[in-house]
Amino acid sequence: MNKETNKVETLQALVKRQKEEIARLQRMLEVSREINSTLDLRELLTDIQHIATALTVTEASSIMLLDKKTGELYFEAATGEASGELTRIAVPIDGSIAGEVVKTGKPVIVADVRKDPRHYDQVDDITKFSTKSILAVPLIVKDKIIGVVEVVNKLEESGFTQEDVDVLTTMASQAAVAIENARLFQQSDLISEVVHELRTPVTSIVGYAQMLKLPDIPAQTKQQFAEIIRREATRLGNMVNDFLDWARLESGRTRLAKEPVDMRAVAEETILVMRPQADHRDITMSLQAPDDVPVIVGDSKRLKQVLLNLTSNAVKYNQDGGRVEVKIAVGPEALSVSVSDTGPGIAPEDLPNIFQRFYRVAGTEDHVKGTGLGLCVAKRIVEMHGGEITVESELGVGTTFTFTLPIATGKLST
Ligand code: ADP
Repeated sequence: MNKETNKVETLQALVKRQKEEIARLQRMLEVSREINSTLDLRELLTDIQHIATALTVTEASSIMLLDKKTGELYFEAATGEASGELTRIAVPIDGSIAGEVVKTGKPVIVADVRKDPRHYDQVDDITKFSTKSILAVPLIVKDKIIGVVEVVNKLEESGFTQEDVDVLTTMASQAAVAIENARLFQQSDLISEVVHELRTPVTSIVGYAQMLKLPDIPAQTKQQFAEIIRREATRLGNMVNDFLDWARLESGRTRLAKEPVDMRAVAEETILVMRPQADHRDITMSLQAPDDVPVIVGDSKRLKQVLLNLTSNAVKYNQDGGRVEVKIAVGPEALSVSVSDTGPGIAPEDLPNIFQRFYRVAGTEDHVKGTGLGLCVAKRIVEMHGGEITVESELGVGTTFTFTLPIATGKLST
């Protein structure tokens, strides 16, 4: 009799396990469908986080991705309050839990982070989030680790189980492929954007060249057409150069020099280059800087490029007889370099977009030459030096661009 009861029990246990297994598979199928429903990287990362917390019954989750260029691990997204602050915080590979996952390719469970020296608590300081327990698994595509998913604070007392590890690992393998696809899609999106931008001058060159061939066109009109063709071809050339320069910076193929830079000297040289253009329109250019500006470590040619971009905009978008002022101020940790002009200013609704590639304030294209890439390149260079660039503007008064450069011999990302 006893034997019989045992048999029934094992059978029941088997059926129960099978039911659980089917439920788990169904859940994974749903997850797969959800993960593959978007090609928008931001949206995808948010979806993955929600799924990760739901599957493991945890309080929050975050995704870190390896930067292909620098090999550094970055927070890309985190749930919870103040998570916005986390985007693009670098997490050290050595001495962090996520870093260990990257190095070993294996999941890591930490039941109590406060007892674990590997926990990178700088992140908690920023988010004001209190991390207690962590489960971290690698994001792997074709044997290559592209990042880490972490879920934080298991809500059940019992802590993380092997099932959590399995479920999160399965989810991560799908998420990793979806992330790679979204990134590829972003890339092709960019290419179509560039092609679109290049097409405009090409269309106009072809159109005017055809019109030049028409019979009975007055000589003066021919001259005008030829001038438009020359101008558009020059613009096309500039766009190609600017775009290549920007693409190299973005792809990480440009390495920054790490040399001592005297920003005062860089500013003086820039003004010397720009002065003829400014004089031509009676615009005065001045420099305000202490004599003893501390030397910073960086790439002087690239920093000059930033100042050239900003001062040439300040001249281009100025009124005749206006002013351009370059100022260097020395703070405790950083230099701040600003370029102010007395131009028309930028409307508040345009300000947030000003650093985007190809963005030009509507109406600008009619009267001022440009590619819409200058500010985007400047921003990238400043950020590669560990600084940041901001803009303030008042319509009818003028615009000031300010960028910072850390004084401490900080690490340069290349
Ligand atoms: P570009 O000058 O080649 O168009 P930028 O990236 O340098 O491209 O600038 C983007 C846009 O921002 C410009 O088209 C212009 O509309 C606006 N802008 C930039 N600098 C200024 C400035 N100092 N004053 C007013 N508008 C500006």
